[in-house]
Amino acid sequence: MSKSGGNAEVVAKRGDVILQSGQDGVGEGVRNILVSSVVLGLASPVFAAMFDGRFSEGQNLSPASPRTVPLPDDDPESIIMICKIAHMQTAELPLKLAATVLSKIALCCNKYDCANVVRSWAIIWIGALLEDLEAADFEKMPLATHLLELPREFFRVSQRLVRDPTAILSVTKATDGHEFLPLEVFEYLLLRQISYQRRITTAFASIVTGLEFCAASKQALSTFIFGLRRNDLWPVNQCSVLVIKSKLRAVPESPPLYASCTTPNCACKSVARYTKATLIAELDKIYDAVDGICLDCVRQKVLGEQKRECRVPHAMREATVYP
Ligand SMILES: [Zn+2]
Ligand SMILES: [Zn+2]
Repeated sequence: MSKSGGNAEVVAKRGDVILQSGQDGVGEGVRNILVSSVVLGLASPVFAAMFDGRFSEGQNLSPASPRTVPLPDDDPESIIMICKIAHMQTAELPLKLAATVLSKIALCCNKYDCANVVRSWAIIWIGALLEDLEAADFEKMPLATHLLELPREFFRVSQRLVRDPTAILSVTKATDGHEFLPLEVFEYLLLRQISYQRRITTAFASIVTGLEFCAASKQALSTFIFGLRRNDLWPVNQCSVLVIKSKLRAVPESPPLYASCTTPNCACKSVARYTKATLIAELDKIYDAVDGICLDCVRQKVLGEQKRECRVPHAMREATVYP
């Protein structure tokens, strides 16, 4: 094999094409991948056209002297992954991928029109990313699930971005410099994230303010706030309900406001509740109310695609629709 033959990847032993992906000096440089033109043609109409004999790449192909096809603009790792799946060389494929890697694969699939090939694997990889609340670059997933034609996963990743963010959504990072999904979809996600954050802050505020009726209730509240502060929960600076709830475990429940009040008919006695339990119930309500976005509605309304039945049944979760 040619120049960077040392790092060649043999995906098809009797392959008749060497894909030479990447560029010298970029990332890990050029990777040569020995593949079968027949398999690639079945996987991708773009490769099928390339190898059908009309172009020079597709003429006189033979395993005896495989034809080199340069793909300088493609990410070598993505091409290798797609080729391995297409050639059923999946025994050693990882069950987890970083979001950036998956996002590159999705872009590559879009270019070669071969999302069908990797879809089942993408479902596995996205499932693993959804379970990892700390996963870096998760905001790239709406674009990836859109390109890979995965409406259920698009719903779940958009839901996760709104309600379990590690930080406020970076629209720049999420669009990744591409225009496959218009900016307004990401801005919509960002708006939903902000209103979710606002609801969390309001829940905290309604728990700790306006209830200082008497010395006893003041005391009970300030003890609770002290607990919040000690656990880095006050002032509210966390944006994930799951993180807040795990930190709340360390905050002691305070007795009801009236517990030690001796004033007869004091207004504090009308608030018969446990402060922490009420806060948790409120946070659960806010969390459960967050829906994902329906990819089919987005496509109809923003991309002007033809109306089709929504593949994530809205009846299952209401108010899923993109506005
Ligand atoms: Zn009282
Ligand atoms: Zn829909």
